[in-house]
Amino acid sequence: MLSKEEYNKTVWQLEHISREITGRYRKNFRSTLKRKIHEHDLSSTYPPFEPLPYIPYFVNRTTPEQTLHQLIEAATTTIEFTLDTESVNIYRTANKPVLIQLQILLPHNLSLVNVIEMCHLPPENHIRFKLLKQLFQIVFSEEKQVYIWGSTAELLSFITFKLFSYEQIDGINLINLQDQFKTYWNQQHIHKSNEENDICICESCLGKQPSETWSLQDSVALELHEYLSKVLTNQSFDIGLDPNLHHMSSSEKNHRQRLTTYALHDCLSMHKIIINMKNKNFQFSFEITKKIPYDLMESISSSDDEIMFSQLTPSIERLENDQTLNINEQEQLTSTSTCGNPNWKITSTNDKQLTSQ
Ligand SMILES: [Zn+2]
Repeated sequence: MLSKEEYNKTVWQLEHISREITGRYRKNFRSTLKRKIHEHDLSSTYPPFEPLPYIPYFVNRTTPEQTLHQLIEAATTTIEFTLDTESVNIYRTANKPVLIQLQILLPHNLSLVNVIEMCHLPPENHIRFKLLKQLFQIVFSEEKQVYIWGSTAELLSFITFKLFSYEQIDGINLINLQDQFKTYWNQQHIHKSNEENDICICESCLGKQPSETWSLQDSVALELHEYLSKVLTNQSFDIGLDPNLHHMSSSEKNHRQRLTTYALHDCLSMHKIIINMKNKNFQFSFEITKKIPYDLMESISSSDDEIMFSQLTPSIERLENDQTLNINEQEQLTSTSTCGNPNWKITSTNDKQLTSQ
């Protein structure tokens, strides 16, 4: 939270951006200031996010085989998962994929949340690597349901780690929670005229456009009345979060604990939102995405604060057999340029000016 002085200064800065700052820099500066104010407004309005009971696991080269077997067993017996990823922003290059958070939903609202550290995996020929591959094989199989805040596109840059393939991502039974939440909100909050002095919280009265996607942070604020901090977005999630990875001082441990909590909370807040939606009998629908040629696919930022894949590529959505068909036009994907990694391509304009919040 900002001090009163810092807050006033930020508001003043936003209203008095120098004319010498122009173009992209002006947009970036504006969105940084706006985000700072938004973060402050939420943190001073709502109590911090509180997760339901869960058991966290670090998954990396130090994770015992026995633990991996237990996770595989839990994943086999359950149906539902939430998934999120974190990447590290590297200036003028593709985001570096570094974390996958995989939550295994269990009965009684309990869950196991895995923080899978991609930069600290066991070697490919190791039994632990094979067990981890098996875990993804189970989660991405057709009888499971995976909730993601957005599309599966954010997983594409993780293919290089060889834990799963493009075909497997393509086969995920995806529930795009970001889209589903928007539908849910519109069903729950139909516009009402202000006769009883009630404050209307329909999308339009909240100032959201019909085409605008919801950030996870805004959804947590309005649905759960809690503050989900996004201050640590794009931090160095690749430094090795598990205290077992290497010796750490207590301040290093504290810093890693904060990053870990941040990563866990994305899945845990999705879980709470799902429970709310289920309690109100919301009917979730799966998303079937038309295959997009892999070599045309863009590297997608994982942060829900950044522009979503659906916004980069205009999509045609229509309902058929109660399922949402999300057809991305191939022509929209052609303006790509090769990046250092031969396995995927990126757009040259995926920078901060495109942020949606
Ligand atoms: Zn309204």
